[in-house]
Amino acid sequence: MPLPLHRSSAPQSTGPTHVIAIAAGKGGVGKSTVTVNLARALTEANYRVGILDADIYGPSLRRMLPEQQLPVQKGPTIIPAVCQGIKVISMAYFRQEGIATAVRAPIANSLITQFCDQVEWGLLDYLLIDFPPGTGDIQLTLSQRAKLRGAVMVTTPQQVAVMDVRKAMHLFSQVNVPILGIVENMSYYIHEKSGEVLHLFGSDGGKLLAEEAGVPLLGQIPVDPLLSCSGDEGVSLFNQAEIKSPGVAAFRALARDIIQRMAGLQSENLIKRLTQPDPMHLDIEWNDRSVHRYRLSDLQKNCPCAGCGEKKTTLRVDDAVSCTQVADIGRYALRIQFTSGCSQGIYTYAMLKQLRHH
Ligand code: ADP
Repeated sequence: MPLPLHRSSAPQSTGPTHVIAIAAGKGGVGKSTVTVNLARALTEANYRVGILDADIYGPSLRRMLPEQQLPVQKGPTIIPAVCQGIKVISMAYFRQEGIATAVRAPIANSLITQFCDQVEWGLLDYLLIDFPPGTGDIQLTLSQRAKLRGAVMVTTPQQVAVMDVRKAMHLFSQVNVPILGIVENMSYYIHEKSGEVLHLFGSDGGKLLAEEAGVPLLGQIPVDPLLSCSGDEGVSLFNQAEIKSPGVAAFRALARDIIQRMAGLQSENLIKRLTQPDPMHLDIEWNDRSVHRYRLSDLQKNCPCAGCGEKKTTLRVDDAVSCTQVADIGRYALRIQFTSGCSQGIYTYAMLKQLRHH
């Protein structure tokens, strides 16, 4: 009789279909503007969208997206706010104005954990997580707790912004979150009268970074004064047919691109069930119903953690090694705690799929 293994989070069939981090290296590059307008473009294309605003340092999202309905706490669960058809949860609803940022950080970390585990999103196609800039604890908590499919990096074409986004990309690579691509915001400005294209903040910084990192350039969003007004006033430009906004056109194209890419990330590559038929083996049933049996000693021999990596040539793995826990890391990896003591290796699904051919 196979024993179901303990998994640290809810089964993968529940929760939003695609959870995407929207992240930047530094504040002010337009990350919240991208999050809100991408959410609107996806909503316009008839997808059910939610936003988890985790940016404690730039509390602008609530202003950009005023709520029709405030969030409600029901026992341990939180029902998100509703803002122009988008479900939203944000620190801004739970924080007293005026508390210093330094005080906010520890409180924020525990709120973030609640946001990841206790929000009742209902049926959602996309959950966009507005990440705080930087590479601290909150970013790590989010990367490991939210069921991320990947991260979209936002930068301006300027070199300083590009440098910071490179650092943020490094954080995601350390926790094995795939980078879906780069959005270059404030890429150019189209002169109203002459139609001339002006590069106010340098040109192609994001494009070059995408090439360097080997990830797609998902979009180039122009500087559009209508976008900043819409943000300040909390009004959507999407349902106003008479408004000609190059920014809105760029966000529609970005949404189409992301929809296509997410459809390409095949859900059959997700794990449906984990069982341990005996102490030395782990069975993985993939969403396409294929089942593969792994010997735990083989998995530990291929442990990708830094400690095992260093010892690779001398690493002796007991053939009878077993595991005490297998935990989900987002929607892309498992962390296995072996009885030998090693518990640091993050086995991405891609890696597990490769190992099964051996
Ligand atoms: P972040 O979330 O990265 O701190 P915001 O989204 O708050 O940045 O944007 C910073 C400022 O820049 C805001 O005033 C916003 O309205 C403006 N802004 C962002 N992107 C654009 C754009 N493409 N065109 C015009 N203004 C923009």
